[in-house]
Amino acid sequence: MRGGPRERRRFPSNVFRYADAGRRVLYDTGYAPSPWRTGLAGRIYRRLLPPVIDPGETIAAQLDPTDVTHVVLSHLHPDHIGGLVHFPHATLVLHPALLTTLAHPRLTDGVLAGLLPDWFDRARRIVVGEFGPGPFGLATHDLFGDDSYHLVDLPGHARGHLGALVAGHALARRRRRLGPGPPRPGGSDARRAAPDHCRRRRASAYRKATARGRAPGRPPAALP
Ligand SMILES: [Zn+2]
Repeated sequence: MRGGPRERRRFPSNVFRYADAGRRVLYDTGYAPSPWRTGLAGRIYRRLLPPVIDPGETIAAQLDPTDVTHVVLSHLHPDHIGGLVHFPHATLVLHPALLTTLAHPRLTDGVLAGLLPDWFDRARRIVVGEFGPGPFGLATHDLFGDDSYHLVDLPGHARGHLGALVAGHALARRRRRLGPGPPRPGGSDARRAAPDHCRRRRASAYRKATARGRAPGRPPAALP
């Protein structure tokens, strides 16, 4: 920040897991360990935002990848797609604009396509069709049609950015309630949480969040 003190800050790269009777859904996959093999753009990224991945902190070290049925990619920045390589058997859940980004990448998109696995184009996938009025006034898509997992259209941070409301909770960077009342359309805490969770320098973080049951009528709270 201009005029402010210079300091280093660490930001976790969170990953969330949702499980119910038949599905294990991963939201994002964290950073990839070195080497990235992403050329000059990757070197610049690592210079500006050096990821730190301690032993045992990769997503594959913290769960059984073969147990995951679906992977939701919130967007394509490196701290979200680095672990995708471990999930070739899972069904990917993608915003259609994310595919537009891949087909016609812009420098400002901040996408390092070399981090995507070579099977990405062949993977089973669900491309989200339409968003409609959902809980708390957000534009959402009911992923499984049973009200358990709502994807949220989150324009502004990246093309094709997806959030999620899971069993009455919002997936967010850290624990905090989004209340006291329902978030405002276009101005919710869930929406504001999206940009800053990408300014991170540390990939720590697989946060296991298994949500069971729903809490109708309650404002969403962030999973741990
Ligand atoms: Zn991002």
